[in-house]
Formats: sequence, C-alpha cells, structure tokens
Amino acid sequence: MAGSIKLWMPLVASILVLAITGCGREEGAASGPEAQTEPNSIDPSAAAIINADETPGEWLSHGRTYSEQRFSPLAEIHTSNVDDLGLAWSFDLGTSRGIEATPIIHDGVMYVTASWNIVYALDAKSGAELWRFDPQVDRSRAAFMCCDIVNRGVALWGNKIFTGTIDGRLIALDAKSGEKYWDVQTVDLSKPYSITGAPRVVKGKVIIGNGGAELGVRGYVTAYDADTGELAWRFYTVPGDVAKEPESAAMAQAMTTWNGEWWKAGGGGTVWDSMAYDPDLDLFYIGVGNGSPWNQEIRSPGGGDNLFLSSIVALRPDTGDYVWHYQTTPGETWDYTATQHMILADLKIDGAVRKVIMQAPKNGFFYVLDRETGEFISAKNFVPVNWATHIDPETGRPVEIEDARWPGKAPYLQLPGPLGAHNWHPMSYNPDTGFVYIPAQEGPWVYAEDQSYEYKEGAWNTGSDFSLAMLPSDEAQFRALKSMVRGRLLAWDPVKQEPAWSFEHGGPWNGGVLSTAGGLVFQGTADAHFAAYDAVNGARLWRFFTQTGIVAAPISYAIDGEQYIAVAAGWGGSFTLGYGGPLPSGSVPNVGRVLVFKVDANGALPAIADSQFVAPTPPPATASQEIVAAGFQAYANYCVTCHGDQAQSSGLVPNLRYSSLLGDTDAWNAVVREGAFAASGMGNFGAIIDREQSEAIRAYVISEANNGYDAAFYEKIAREVNNAAQ
Ligand code: CA
Repeated sequence: MAGSIKLWMPLVASILVLAITGCGREEGAASGPEAQTEPNSIDPSAAAIINADETPGEWLSHGRTYSEQRFSPLAEIHTSNVDDLGLAWSFDLGTSRGIEATPIIHDGVMYVTASWNIVYALDAKSGAELWRFDPQVDRSRAAFMCCDIVNRGVALWGNKIFTGTIDGRLIALDAKSGEKYWDVQTVDLSKPYSITGAPRVVKGKVIIGNGGAELGVRGYVTAYDADTGELAWRFYTVPGDVAKEPESAAMAQAMTTWNGEWWKAGGGGTVWDSMAYDPDLDLFYIGVGNGSPWNQEIRSPGGGDNLFLSSIVALRPDTGDYVWHYQTTPGETWDYTATQHMILADLKIDGAVRKVIMQAPKNGFFYVLDRETGEFISAKNFVPVNWATHIDPETGRPVEIEDARWPGKAPYLQLPGPLGAHNWHPMSYNPDTGFVYIPAQEGPWVYAEDQSYEYKEGAWNTGSDFSLAMLPSDEAQFRALKSMVRGRLLAWDPVKQEPAWSFEHGGPWNGGVLSTAGGLVFQGTADAHFAAYDAVNGARLWRFFTQTGIVAAPISYAIDGEQYIAVAAGWGGSFTLGYGGPLPSGSVPNVGRVLVFKVDANGALPAIADSQFVAPTPPPATASQEIVAAGFQAYANYCVTCHGDQAQSSGLVPNLRYSSLLGDTDAWNAVVREGAFAASGMGNFGAIIDREQSEAIRAYVISEANNGYDAAFYEKIAREVNNAAQ
C-alpha cells in the first residue's frame, strides 16, 4: 500500500507542475492501451481533469470538473439560437428501469451506463455503438436496493474506465475495447450492500462508496489503485462494534457520540453518491447518508449526534485520513442524508473571497461552508420545512421543532419527507450568474414509530411505520395530499441565501441540471420533456417532448467545433417506484434512451405505439377485512418501495394489480417466497415473509385491484400533471 503511494508521488508532482504552467493535454495522446507500456509516464487524465476548462469540449469526470460545478464553458448554443436545437441522435438503452447516469465524453466517445450496470461506449457524434460491457450482475440483489437498479455513471482515468455494480463490485475496463482489466468485490455480500454511485478518480486512486442503509449496513468509502485494483485505503463513516479496536482516531472520536448497540444493524452512513475534490487544498469530500435504522431511539437509545451520519467529511485522498467534518443533521432520524451533490466554488462573501463547499441536502437547508476548515458560513431553507426553525449561526446546528423528533411520540406530518427537498439529482453552479440551480421538491411524510419493529436481516429496517405514510384511499384526501407534492427548478443565490427565480413543474422527481456559458440552464422533467431556461430570469426558451420522464443530469460537449447537449433519459428511482403509479408523470411507458441535441438538427424519435392495453379483471375480493389489513401492513413493510403505493406501479416493475398470479396461491407463493422470478430482479423473501403474510399480501393486492382507483383515474391525473406543466 505504501509502495503504491510512493509510486504516485512523482506523478502528483508532475501534475502540479502542469497545473501551474497551464500546459494543456495533447488531444488524443496516450489514451490507448499503449499508454501502459511506460508505467511511470504521466497519466494525461490527471492533469486533464484538473485543467478541464482547457478542454471544454470534453466531459472527463462526473461533475465535469473536480469542483463538480456541472457548468459547461461552451457557448455556441446560447439564448438567441437555443430555439433551433433539434435531435442529433438517440440511442436506445433497451430498458424500462431507471436511468440516472451522467455520460463521460473523451476523444469523441461517450461512456454511459444503464440498468443492471450495462456500460455502453458510443460514438459521441453519430450515436453508433462502439462496444458494450455487461458485468452479469446477480439480479436477485435488486431486492436489497432501496431505490431501483440504477447507476450514475462511470469514471475515466488514462486508458481505463471504472464502474460500480449493484452486487458491490468495482470494475476497470479498457476505454477503447471494453475489455476487463480487473474486477474487485468491495462489499460483504452477506449484507445488503449495493453500489449505484459513480466512482471518482483522484491521484491514481479510484474511490467508491456504497448503499444499503435502509436495510442495515455500515457505511464506508474505499480507494483502489487504478492500475491494479489493489485496495489502498478504506474510511468508515460510523463506528463499529465497541468490543473491537476502532479503525482510526476519527472512529474512536465518533464512537463517543453513539449509544446502545448500533453496530448490530450496521449504523448506516453510506456514501452512495456525492464526492468532490480540491487539488489545491488536496482535500477529498464525501457526503454521508442516514442512520440504520432511521429511528434514532432504536439505533442509539438516548440520542447523541451519531457521527458521521448526515455529514460532509473532508479526507486526504492519499491516505483516507480524516481532516474535518460538518454534520447537517445531528442525531439523524428522518433519512436526512447529506449524500446530495456538493459543489466547490470561490464566492465573495462580506467582501472577502471564500473557498466554499455548497450542498442542498434532503433536510431542506442550503449550506455554505468553508471548504478548507469546515467552518459554517451560512444556511437557509430553500423549501418550506417544519422540522427545524433555522440553523443557529453561532453553533451551525439546526434548531429543531420539538414534535418533529418523532421516535416515542405521536406521528408527525413533516416537510421534507425522506425523499428530500432535494435528492441525488445533480444541481449546477453557474459562475457567470452566481446562482446554484437546484432540482427542488416538496413532499410530506408521516413519521411514526413502528411499534412492532424487530430487526430482520435483508429487509427494510427503518423502525418507522410506513403504513401511516401511505397515500389516503379517500379521493378528496388523496387530492389534498397530492397538491402538497411539488417540484421546481430553483435558481438560488448562495451569497444572499435567497431565491433568484423558480420554474414550477407539474410534480416532483425531475432531472438533474446543467448550466452553460451560453446563458442557459438545461433540465429534463418527470412529465417527459427536456427544456432550456434563461439562466438569468428562468424564462423557458425551448423544450422537446422526450416520450419518457427524465431524472439524470444533462452534459455538454463539442466535436469538430459543434456543441452538443446530451441527457440519458428514463424515469426511475425511489419516488418513481413508490409513488409513480398513484402520482404519475404522464410518461408511461418508460424508455431508457440517450438523447443528443445540437443546433439545426431535425432528428425524430420513433413513433409511440398506440397502447392496446386493457386492464385484466382481477379475481373477486373474498378475504376478510382483517386479512386485507394484515396484508396492507406487510405490503407497507416489504413491498411498497418497489411495487408502489396502492399496489400501483409506474411501469418500471410489473403492476401487481394486473398480475396473472393473483388467483393462484401456489404460483404467488413461489415468486414471493421461493425466488421463482429472481433472475428478473424479484428477490426471494422466504426468510422474511411467511406463507400467511404472503397470502395476506395477495388478498390486499386483490382488494386494491377491485376497489382502488382504476387506470382511468390515474390517466386523468397524468393528464392534469401534463397540463399543469405546459
Ligand atoms: Ca436513505
């Protein structure tokens, strides 16, 4: 391990010289396998990523730059010609599951990921497929994933690209051929870990986290040598078993902020998405997730801050050593992750230029911190919140509203809910306007104690009663609640901590954001459109009907002097799975596709086939109310997060109301309890759900299929959503 660090020292020194002298990367140099022949030669991608503004036509890392600003310096497409944008090409990703990837662009090649971790290399000018790589993931692991079988993209370094998988692997591929260099297992597969995030590569190390805190795991990030896949360091985010030696001084310190036997359910704190790097300060930032279980009274009886849950932590990228942390939500008990997108920028605040890190985490406050020290600078809520009145400027801690700390108390209707005021969908910072563009949303949630909670391995273990958070079956109540579920593109002034403008969408769970030097902001929406907005005033200047909802963030690149805007389209993720049926976007059927636009192009998407779908007649509802009620509770515990509230799927997974197995108890049992559909991603719940519960769930679904709102009702809601977004 020490040897590999030494090996990279001359490289780092060379990069710094390049950075200081401003030498650009030679286009296309040393990017093929031949770069391997001189192991000590300078890796072009290191300097290239640090100096990304010198090659604005490329998109070399997840947020384009290590600062993760997601701002493109390209300005060929601007406010005056954006109306001439058209479809240059599209590429069908062959999936109806969620698409969350940010494409990477290098040397005219686009690298993008799709469901089940399939990686594609496409000609970025024509859309022609160059190669694809299928890691053959164990699809039954889908049952361990909170939020769809998604992936947020690859990382590039020299001649290799890197991708994480839902079964916990990190894989290095040859960028030219897609052939595998190495494949390492990063998690203990006996636990419900998964990977959905994009790796980052810093100083020759590939850094990757993982997810699984809803089910019960202990979070960490790991760095691997980019050449060999050898493990370089691992940083745990929460302490482990008190009987064992803490892995680091930081863990020994963190342990003093916990109570009880938290390690038995993992403790949580997964680093499932956001990371950033400052090469000048040599600090690597990670965003840390929620507790396992959510309910702090179960996780850490008597409280405590529970470090480093819901924190931004700064590490040394060479060693993984802790430098500083800032905790957004001390004593987290609401699934208020701090895994959301972090942006580095230099802002003039009170007359002085400050090196800041900015985040809009799930808890609804926009934070500006000093990224050298972690010092709190300012925070302000960017949506309505009712869990805290404000962040105390002296302590940097939230001033909580007492009833919001729900464990052991009455159920509390809270804004934001666990899907957040802002989730993983990337923001963008535009240095020209000084605004951060946030895919913001509002969605209430009833937090309530799960009175019958017991830890079940491989199941959701939140300690929160989801049945009280389910959508009301009464139509008037349903419509009242629906009116509280909102989404918007919000331009936020991080210096003044106030909104500059906002554009209201028809609902929540819209796409990530790109801003450009052309004075434009690009975002896709849940209601199947991709649009450009004026970065200064929020006027919508152009939009395109994409046939499918969008959650991923767009990018921009240039080839042969022409600027392109690209986005990986396809609705998906936690909101879509849980609520996309009852709260539809109007974008069914879901089609995963890369869409690429340029000025004066006039491509067209394939015509949508007329739907001939007729809902089948469900079996008669004959079970007792008692059994249906038990089925509702079990459905809320084990099924709703994938199959949808009111047993109404958004089309990503089979709609249980229409299941041909509803009338066949043995076939139903074989799927739920024997893994009959494991190869399609339906886990085997035999160890979690007993035969009686399985039958009760079947009775509940039959009841919904007979008595719930029918398809016409949801089609009407979808039209209303679309009309609201016109
Ligand atoms: Ca979570």
